Formats: sequence, C-alpha cells, structure tokens
Amino acid sequence: MVQVNSNYLKLKAGYLFPEIARRINAFCKLHPEANLIRLGIGDVTEPLPDACCKAMQHAIQEMATQDGFHGYGPEQGYLWLREAIAQNDFQSRSCNISAEEIFVSDGSKCDSSNILDILGPGNRIAVTDPVYPVYVDSNVMTGHTGDASSLGHYAGLTYIPLNAENGFQAELPSKPVDLIYLCFPNNPTGAIANKDQLAKWVDYARRNQSLILFDAAYEAFIQDPSLPHSIFEIEGARECSIEFRSFSKKAGFTGTRCAYTVIPKSLKGKTENGEIIDLWSLWNRRQSTKFNGVSYIVQRGAEAVFSLEGQSQTKKLVRFYMDNAALIRNKLSNAGYKVYGGQHAPYVWVEAPNGYDSWKFFDFLLNEANVVGTPGSGFGVAGEGFFRLSAFNSRENVEQAMKRIISI
Ligand SMILES: *Cc1c(COP(=O)(O)O)cnc(C)c1O
Repeated sequence: MVQVNSNYLKLKAGYLFPEIARRINAFCKLHPEANLIRLGIGDVTEPLPDACCKAMQHAIQEMATQDGFHGYGPEQGYLWLREAIAQNDFQSRSCNISAEEIFVSDGSKCDSSNILDILGPGNRIAVTDPVYPVYVDSNVMTGHTGDASSLGHYAGLTYIPLNAENGFQAELPSKPVDLIYLCFPNNPTGAIANKDQLAKWVDYARRNQSLILFDAAYEAFIQDPSLPHSIFEIEGARECSIEFRSFSKKAGFTGTRCAYTVIPKSLKGKTENGEIIDLWSLWNRRQSTKFNGVSYIVQRGAEAVFSLEGQSQTKKLVRFYMDNAALIRNKLSNAGYKVYGGQHAPYVWVEAPNGYDSWKFFDFLLNEANVVGTPGSGFGVAGEGFFRLSAFNSRENVEQAMKRIISI
C-alpha cells in the first residue's frame, strides 16, 4: 500500500474557518431571517480595476489570432512584467532589485509555502504568534516540526509573540534562528513595521546568517510615506531576505491569480557539507521544473496595474478599503473598544471586551449583532482575547455592522 506523508496528521485539523462556518450554519438554522454581515473574510469584494480588465480583454483578442497567440511563457514570467515590477515597485523606491530577481507566480500563498522546497531540514524556524497560518502549516507538512502541544504550539518552532505590550512588533528571539517569517503590514493584527524595526531584523539576520522571508502582500495599504513597503529598502537586506508580493489585495486579483517573489542573486545558503550555494539558482530550477508560468492574459492584466490609469484605479481601490478600516476603528474606539491596526492594513484587531475570550466574543457578535468576524485565537495562542475585523466589504455593510455592534 502506498505510504502517505504522516506529517499531515500533525496538523491541527483546519480548525478555524470550518468552526466559523459550523457556528454560522447553526445560527442561521435557528434564525433564517437574520441578515448576517461578514467582516471575517480575508478576500476583496470590489471589482477589478478597469485598466486590468481592458488589458486582459485585449490579451484574449490577441490569443484568438495566429500572430498574437501565446503558448507556454517563461516559467519566471514575461520580461515586460518583471521589468515593470522591478521599476515601479523597487527601483522607484531606490531598491536595487533587477527584473531577473523577480519570479512571477500564481500566488503568494503558494510561493511562501513552496519556498521550503529549496530549504533543507534542520533549520531553526521562527514565526510570529499570531501568524498567517500558511507559514506554520507548510512547515508542519514538510516535516520541519514535531507535534502540536495542547496549547497549539508545534515543537521545534520558535514563536515570537505580537501583543499590545510590544506594540505588535516582532522582537528579536533570545536564541538564534535560521529562518524567520515576517509579515508587514501584518495579517491578522494590522500592525506595521517602520524602517528602524526592519533594520533590527536585517542586522540580526546578517549577524546570525539567517534568512528572512518577508511577506509584503499588504504593502499597497501603507498610508504614511515614510514607512517601508519593501524589506529591500533596508541596507543589507539583499544579503538576507526573500520578499513575497501579490496583486491579490492591491488590485483585487484574489480570483485572477498573480503574485511574485523576489530572490536577490546575492542571497546565499549552505549545503550539508558546508558548500555555499546561491538561492536564486535553486528557485529558478525549482520553478522551471515544477511550474509552467502564469497565463499570458493574467500577466497582461497585472502589467496594467502599473499603467497611469491602473495606478490611479488601484489607489482608489485601496483608499476605499482604508476608509472602511478608518470607519471601523473610529466607531469602535469611540464606543470604548480597544482597537489596533487598520491604519496601514485592511484589518482591525479588536480586543474582546468584558474579558471575553475570542470565541465568546465571536458568539456574542454573531447572536447580538449578526456580525461575523474572525476569532484572534485562530491565528495563534497569543491571539486569544482578540478579534479580527476585515475592511473588505461594501461601505453600506461596514456602516451597518458598526451601528449594530455599537448598539449592543
Ligand atoms: C492574502 C494574503 C497573501 C496573498 O496570497 P495570494 O496567494 O497571492 O492570493 C499573502 N500573504 C498574506 C499574509 C495574505 O493575507
């Protein structure tokens, strides 16, 4: 009989979202007339920017012609898209990143887990708590951890708490680690890191020869021009960092699928024998073997994000969600809730009132306000007592949800 990957059995059975669905279903059975507002999802709600749709329509027309047909493209992405990315997202912010160092993909979720393909076993790994669950689960599946404790922490991982006391900033670990996952602007806490805070991590990584995996899926939501959008705005980051970026949240591509990963050519790792190898070549080999590129049509849509029209339309899109976030923050804090995040990220991290735990507050909001959010404890032990509200919704729904929460 075929052997399975037993590491999958260590996973805490996809607990969060199925449990939310179960409680919503039970509630709806009892109250079929209730008009639920869902501020729990991490998915965008507004339509694609017009410039992207036009570019994709044009690309489809091209594909219908003999001369404009495209079959397999380069596994790394078309050079015109990689050049547009390098110029607009990096060189324009004085980051020394070239088109060759950009690998276009169908998602940051896949990239941030696939990256483990080129990293060996035995790395000491640090994640934040709370955390985007993909970082942890992909390591569990690969066999980089032991079992989960009853609390929910996996043996072998170093957890860096993000809490109100440390301002939701990731503090340097006391023991050295080799691989560090950082996500700023942060999902789920909505926190942001400034240049000094990122520089601390880059210095740490260079001192300890560790690798930072920097997830910047929400960089477009940063409102303060002095804040870094990329880890490569920090000196020395080319020697110790990989960055994940996505068109998903910035341009509404969650259903269209386009993202990219930046691997500087200067990035090095070592083999079991101590031989020094560059990571770029390994990832290039990995992508060439296991990936066949993003569709031509979608890459043309992503390219249009950088056109003048596309830039102004995506700015408007981000503005819309950030106005929702401001609304959530203001209404709740005026009503006496303790709120964090939501200023440079589309998530507001709310402290559950009355000493409620995350699930008790979930049930309270569901029953009393018919509003759905995400229990913070689902993102990690340190998320207990918190609640994530997402700004991805219509203005009307956000306004209505705030009215209801305030009145309970
Ligand atoms: C939404 C999200 C992404 C983007 O994932 P895609 O696969 O590109 O849609 C990456 N990281 C975090 C933390 C996210 O919340």
